[in-house]
Amino acid sequence: MLVLRGGTLIDGTGAGPVAGVTIVVGDGRIAAVARGAAGEWPQDAEIIDVSGLTVLPGLVDCHDHLAMHGYDLARRWGLDEPQSTRTLRTAKVLQETLAAGYTAVRDAAGLDAGFKRAIEEGLIAGPRLVLSLVIVSPVGGIGDRASPSGFACCVPNDPLLPDGVVNSFADIRPVVRRIVRAGADVIKCATTGGASSRDGHGPFDGAFALDEIQALVEEAHALDRRVMCHALGGRGLRSAVEAGVDSIEHGCYLDQAPELLDRMAECGIFFVPTFAVYDYHRKSAFPHIRERARDLEEHHAASLSRALAAGVKIAAGTDAGGHGHPPNAIEIACLVRAGMAPLSALRAATGWAAECLGREREIGTVEKGKLADLVVVKGDPLADVGILQDRDRIALVLKGGVIAANRMAPAAAASAGSRR
Ligand SMILES: [Zn+2]
Repeated sequence: MLVLRGGTLIDGTGAGPVAGVTIVVGDGRIAAVARGAAGEWPQDAEIIDVSGLTVLPGLVDCHDHLAMHGYDLARRWGLDEPQSTRTLRTAKVLQETLAAGYTAVRDAAGLDAGFKRAIEEGLIAGPRLVLSLVIVSPVGGIGDRASPSGFACCVPNDPLLPDGVVNSFADIRPVVRRIVRAGADVIKCATTGGASSRDGHGPFDGAFALDEIQALVEEAHALDRRVMCHALGGRGLRSAVEAGVDSIEHGCYLDQAPELLDRMAECGIFFVPTFAVYDYHRKSAFPHIRERARDLEEHHAASLSRALAAGVKIAAGTDAGGHGHPPNAIEIACLVRAGMAPLSALRAATGWAAECLGREREIGTVEKGKLADLVVVKGDPLADVGILQDRDRIALVLKGGVIAANRMAPAAAASAGSRR
C-alpha cells in the first residue's frame, strides 16, 4: 500500500482544491480519499509526504499522434529512416509522455496496436492507450495517402494499419469492421479538410455525404466503438454533428453554427479543440496552411467560449506529432489563453477527458475505487497552468498505483512503517 499524505487535491470533477488530503492506494486503485490524516493503513504501507504539493488525477490527452514525427512527406511516408528507428523513437515518446504526467492518451491515427500490447506486457513504459489506428475518409480525404493524381507512396503502408480509405457507400461498414479487427478502440473519421491538408481540401471542404457518415456511426456503435470526427467547419461539420458522432475534433468554426453547439450539448457530443497545433501551423512554410491557421484563430477561441456557454463538455487534445512532441500540457495552457478558467481547463484534461474516452468509471478523477492514476505537482497549477509543462515540477506520477516517475526530493520520499 502507498499513502500520499498532506497534499492539496484537485480531483478532476470540477470541484475546487482541497488542502491537507490523504490518498490511500492499494491493489492499483484508490482505496480512500480523506481530508486530514484520517484513515487506516497497514504497518508496512509506504508513506509519501506530499504536503505543499498539488495532487491531480493522471492527465489525459484526447487527440495525439504519438507515432508521427513531422509533417514533411518523407517523414509521413516513413522514407527517411529505418522502421526500427522510427518504432524506437515512438517508444521514447510514449515513455516521456507518461513521465510528464499523462497516464492516458487517445491516439488519433498512426499508432498501431503493437505499442499498446508492448505497454501492457511491460516491454516499454507508456500511458493507457485508446487507439484509432487510421483515419476513415473518402478518396481525396485527409486519410488518403496518395498524391492528387492518385500516385500512392512506393513504400507499403504498415501492414498493422488497415486502409481507412472509403471508395463507395458499400465500403463504409467493411472499412469500420477491418479497423476494429486490427485493434481499434475508437473510430476516427474526417468530414472536412484541415489546416495542413492539401491545397483545395481545406476547413470548409466537405468529405462524405450525410448518409455515409450516418452509416459509419451506426456501424461503429454496433461494434461498441465511439466515433471521433475531424471536422472544422461548413457542411462537413454539420453532417458530423447530425450523424451523431461522439466527439468533434478541432471544431474551429462551431461559432458559425451555434445551433450545432446546442445539439452537441443535448446529445452529449464532446468538443475537442486543438489550439497548440494551429500555433505551429501559423508559422508554416506553406502559404495555404499559414492562411488557414490564421483565419481560424479567432473562430476557434469563440467556438470554445460558445461551447462552454451552451453546456458542451470540452476535452483537451494537442494534435501533436506533426509538430513534434512538446509537453502535452501545452494544450491546457492554450485553453486558458483562449478564455477557459484554469479549473475547467484542468477538468478538460482529466474528468471530462475520461468521459470523452468512455473511461470515466476507471480514470479521470481522484475517487475511491478508481484506478490510481495520479500526478503530484510542485506548485499550484490553478495559479499557473504553465507549470504542468515543466518536467521538473512533475514530482510523482502513478499509473495504476505503480510509480512511473519520481522526482520527489529524497528527504520527502518514502518512510515505511509509520502509522498515521
Ligand atoms: Zn489529428
